[in-house]
Amino acid sequence: MNMDVRESDSPKEFCGLCGVYGVPDVGPTLYQGLFSLQHRGQEGAGIATADGREVYSVRGQGLVNDVFGRQDWSALPGHLGIGHVRYSTTGSTRIQNVQPLVAECVDGIWAVAHNGNLVNAEKLRGMYQEAGAIFQTGTDSEVLIHLLADPMYRTRPRRVARALAELDGAFCFLLMTRNCMLAARDRYGFRPLSVGRLGDGYVVASETCALELVGATFIRDVEPGELLIFDESGMHSSFFAEGPERKPARCIFEMVYFARPDSKVFGKNVHETRVQYGRQLAKEHPVDADVVISIPDSGNSAALGYSMESKIPLEHGFIRNHYVGRTFIMPSQGDRSRGVDMKLAVLREVVKGKRVIVVDDSVVRGTTARRRVQRLREAGATEVHMRVSCPPIKHPCFYGIDFPTSDELIAGGMDVDEICAYLEADSLGYLSLEGLFVPFGSEHGFCSACFSGDYPSDISGMSGDKHALESRSELPLNI
Ligand code: SF4
Repeated sequence: MNMDVRESDSPKEFCGLCGVYGVPDVGPTLYQGLFSLQHRGQEGAGIATADGREVYSVRGQGLVNDVFGRQDWSALPGHLGIGHVRYSTTGSTRIQNVQPLVAECVDGIWAVAHNGNLVNAEKLRGMYQEAGAIFQTGTDSEVLIHLLADPMYRTRPRRVARALAELDGAFCFLLMTRNCMLAARDRYGFRPLSVGRLGDGYVVASETCALELVGATFIRDVEPGELLIFDESGMHSSFFAEGPERKPARCIFEMVYFARPDSKVFGKNVHETRVQYGRQLAKEHPVDADVVISIPDSGNSAALGYSMESKIPLEHGFIRNHYVGRTFIMPSQGDRSRGVDMKLAVLREVVKGKRVIVVDDSVVRGTTARRRVQRLREAGATEVHMRVSCPPIKHPCFYGIDFPTSDELIAGGMDVDEICAYLEADSLGYLSLEGLFVPFGSEHGFCSACFSGDYPSDISGMSGDKHALESRSELPLNI
């Protein structure tokens, strides 16, 4: 069985987007942008470019370097292009599902790259399939191509805006024709999408860390419900969702876990926000101890904040093995705990004989956290106090984050005391829901449904099965 030890008790990464317009030979720039977004998806990577005459594309499974490390960039020429790194929140791991998807409609070629999860994709796909349309992939993203090809939209003004307005759920889309690039963010603004300037051209990316790496200067975020069009006359903005149709519900979990610490997400630096979470956690759940340690890397900033607020020294208690990659073959699923041990080693000298506070960004199933508490005790810690820089995750996400089902989420069935007992920790403290919003002051417009169960959109049609779009093809064929 091929199992990534990182996936044993973590929410899964999803997808990352990078688009470039008006830059000579865009291929290497897109490669760098995708490289810096690798944390958002490791199953596959793809780039489509255009030179005003043709669309070129290369896609493959694996990491960005696996796919493009030896790329002959003359095969991806042009002054505009879009790229994608994929983690499958819908559809299985197969090459057909790697994006950008490229399709030839009656009036030209479209390349499409998507980050998020469309909650009405099953309905739209079923409607087109009933009408005779053929789908090539198991992804929800493909429905946008069918909407664009549909004469209902194709023959009317503001075709792309009209098609986007039909979609519900979480999406950031990058689209490309032979000579223009488009960027869109759903009406809720679940996922981040930022625009930067590079020379005379533009770069659009899921996170600002990609803008930094390619040398672009941040201009602004794409607004919820906004469609940006980049062409030879510059950048043009319009809205496909306006007024009350725009209901900002930015994913607060981007701040907790997904985004890179050096990115600016929803107007705030991620590292600084996580430090604030750590400070708040120390105020809400103080405890006498000798040392604060983090679960690297995603717990680092919150542990620093906890240490600063509590005045308890911060140490490196776990050392990460960066070479335990996703191709590591676990002997069996039952060996999950050994996989956890291989990923992080305990620094015995730091924890032996000490009362230890260990800070993690989240607890999903609880199996990994439990093993880490055990390891600290085996290494001689006299007390282990677990602190988590987000509230208990009790509900599934339908907007592009691949949490397990409620049954598998430890907080879905246990209260904090029961979880503490399961982890065999001396104490357990989660950041409160109110604490999660402290860094944002009176700002509103966030989604926190995985903590609160309060979903910002209608999810009644969602099966929660990421293979739901593919299972249709297994129906017996009438021949
Ligand atoms: S449910 Fe949670 S993970 Fe999903 S979009 Fe909302 S805050 Fe983000």
